[in-house]
Amino acid sequence: MKKSFNHDLSTSNTFRMNVSCACYIEYDSVEELADFFSSGRQFDLPRPFLHIGGGSNLLFTKDFPGTVFHSGIRFVSPLEGGGQADASGAGEVMVEVGAGTRWDDFCGWCAERGLWGPENLSGIPGETGAAAVQNIGAYGTEFKDVVRKIRCFDVVTCSVKTFSRDECRYGYRDSIFKQAAKGRYIVTSAVFALSSGAGPQLGYGHVKDAVEKALSENRQESPTPELVRSVILGIRNSKLPDPAEMGNAGSFFKNPVVPKVFYDKVEHYAKSKYGQDYEVPHFDAGSGFIKIPAAWLIEQCGWKGYTEGNVGVYAKQPLVLVNRTGAATPDEIIALEKKISDSVMNLFGIGLNPEVEHI
Ligand SMILES: Cc1cc2nc3c(=O)[nH]c(=O)nc-3n(C[C@H](O)[C@H](O)[C@H](O)COP(=O)(O)OP(=O)(O)OC[C@H]3O[C@@H](n4cnc5c(N)ncnc54)[C@H](O)[C@@H]3O)c2cc1C
Repeated sequence: MKKSFNHDLSTSNTFRMNVSCACYIEYDSVEELADFFSSGRQFDLPRPFLHIGGGSNLLFTKDFPGTVFHSGIRFVSPLEGGGQADASGAGEVMVEVGAGTRWDDFCGWCAERGLWGPENLSGIPGETGAAAVQNIGAYGTEFKDVVRKIRCFDVVTCSVKTFSRDECRYGYRDSIFKQAAKGRYIVTSAVFALSSGAGPQLGYGHVKDAVEKALSENRQESPTPELVRSVILGIRNSKLPDPAEMGNAGSFFKNPVVPKVFYDKVEHYAKSKYGQDYEVPHFDAGSGFIKIPAAWLIEQCGWKGYTEGNVGVYAKQPLVLVNRTGAATPDEIIALEKKISDSVMNLFGIGLNPEVEHI
């Protein structure tokens, strides 16, 4: 276990906020965690406690006064006897992955071995432990579709607990670890069910088109996990800023889910502006509610490509706020966040909530 005080966090968050924490601890095993919490040593450390992964969904709003924990538990291990054949005879392979493993390293591991499951989630920054907390999602697949069990360390009882997928109560970018159990459980590993024969999830039209194009370019008849992964990585690279080049935390706001009457007003606005044939992008969220892409609402308010000082709105994806120069402060990001959400409220009467966790 490595411990340091007044630790610099500027390379531990993808927004590149120049902040520090009073104490930083990195551990390498469940045994180290158990030894630490059962010895009572945690009572000597600055509070509050925060567990981070790659810091790709966080906005540090100031120096953190407490102790930051980070997992160094990194492994990808197939589980013996954990799989079974599905109806088509294709094999199911169970694999356990340490929480500190880079999520995309696991996606690459699966693709190299021809295993289907997380290929549509390729390229999402961050670590496997946080992916379990966030229920990450992209291109029609969510973490919950691939995972079977989450193993955790309970800091209250100092014991190990395994959650089934149902017990995790997964929803849209949500889980029990963000709600009732927040702060109590440290995710230490996750068990996934992969398939050697399931085939691709091509529900998103443009992904299907891009996969077909790649097949014809490669003179391949049917897609492999590796081909789908490379198509997904290509799409992502063309749309999203690389945090290594421009600080950001991905989608800054959640897509609002509104009662149909609100959507009707948005549609009326759009049709009177762009003509009766114009279709507002939206998804039926059930029970009379509609999900509207926050990116569309933000674009309508004129923010796409906007810059101000060190911050800005990414020109290719208005849902992404960026640390343009690398020198942005938390206050600059927060001021831009407020201006954007106020403008959406003024134009559409719809409130935007941040997807990025403010610390
Ligand atoms: C360019 C870019 C693109 C992105 N694209 C997507 C996308 O397509 N889909 C998507 O869903 N997200 C996306 N994200 C958001 C982000 O990558 C995910 O939310 C990711 O899962 C965060 O992982 P992290 O390791 O960086 O976690 P962090 O941001 O460090 O932490 C996220 C949360 O998990 C908790 N946590 C972390 N590790 C543990 C642990 N071991 N035990 C318990 N709690 C823990 C933290 O306390 C925090 O609440 C994107 C981000 C960027 C920068």
